[in-house]
Amino acid sequence: MERYLRQLNIPQIGDEGQRKIGEASILVVGAGGLGSAALFCLAGAGVGTIGIADFDTIAESNLNRQFLHTTEGIGTDKLDSALERLKAFNPFIKFNAHRIKVSDDNAESLIEPYDLVISAVDNMDTRYVLNRACVKGRKPLINGGVSGMYGSIQLIEPGKTACLSCLLGENQKQTAANSFAPVVSTISSLMAQAALLLVLGQPNSLKEELLFFDGEKMSFEKILLRRDPKCPVCGKLKT
Ligand SMILES: [Zn+2]
Repeated sequence: MERYLRQLNIPQIGDEGQRKIGEASILVVGAGGLGSAALFCLAGAGVGTIGIADFDTIAESNLNRQFLHTTEGIGTDKLDSALERLKAFNPFIKFNAHRIKVSDDNAESLIEPYDLVISAVDNMDTRYVLNRACVKGRKPLINGGVSGMYGSIQLIEPGKTACLSCLLGENQKQTAANSFAPVVSTISSLMAQAALLLVLGQPNSLKEELLFFDGEKMSFEKILLRRDPKCPVCGKLKT
């Protein structure tokens, strides 16, 4: 417990909260920029089981922001690099490695064993796949995204909150996003914070709101979200 000493005395955590964190299982899809800080935060906090899904290899252009990886690792699998670093950081938790490209064919079985899912991917298609699977499996999903100096996170609790498709429809196109380390790491850390608040059972206004970060103005804004009763993904889901 020495390892968690500095968080055990936080009133919102305590021994009971630490036990909940230790029993939690969280899947992070994407071990890139949006995954890096989140995975370190979850491992540092002592989340009992962390799943990591990734199929990509490390490119030099990743290294302006993807702290999980090293220059030496360029060309090797992000999954191996992430596991090596995270196991060295906290060897007392369980890591599950999923070397797959997430699709509609595998997403439901992938997310099934986990309490909640963090979407730390770089494309809309995979975000939609995870949204569909999490709504169907009634699994909380935290989705983060960045573009240049801006970023946002959305917490999706199927049947209770707006899902990704309520917010964006089903046909949002992919645009290559520029990525700046402080912005992407802020969003990544906030996803871990949202996940841990959920694990701790703490009140979390993100259930109704999208959190938007403006890295140019250094400001946060919350935008009220409403479920779309005609949403093709969650419209028919009962609360
Ligand atoms: Zn929806």
